[in-house]
Amino acid sequence: MKDCVFCKIIAGEIPSAKVYEDGEIVLFKDIAPLAKIHLLCVPKEHYAHLSEWNAARKRVLADALEKIAALAPSLGLEDGYRLVINQGESAGQTVPHLHIHILGGEPLGWEK
Ligand SMILES: [Zn+2]
Repeated sequence: MKDCVFCKIIAGEIPSAKVYEDGEIVLFKDIAPLAKIHLLCVPKEHYAHLSEWNAARKRVLADALEKIAALAPSLGLEDGYRLVINQGESAGQTVPHLHIHILGGEPLGWEK
């Protein structure tokens, strides 16, 4: 999508600190980290919401979760990590391109 910051990162038009990339997804460091390690896992196909899922998108995200689990030890996440998918503005989704936040590298709080 033309005006999407994540599509521009995927296309290499905006620099990012990529830590993994394959044909379906890219992982890069969040520019405003909320934990010692804060990565974003972004499917290369542009869509915003889980409500837009289809069989292909479902497969890509399932594969992404498997890949995150496999990569976690090499990313400094061997002691645990948290995955977050914000859906909609009031949930904090600032980029309308579906993405999984990967947080870890330190003990994480869990309170409102
Ligand atoms: Zn996009």
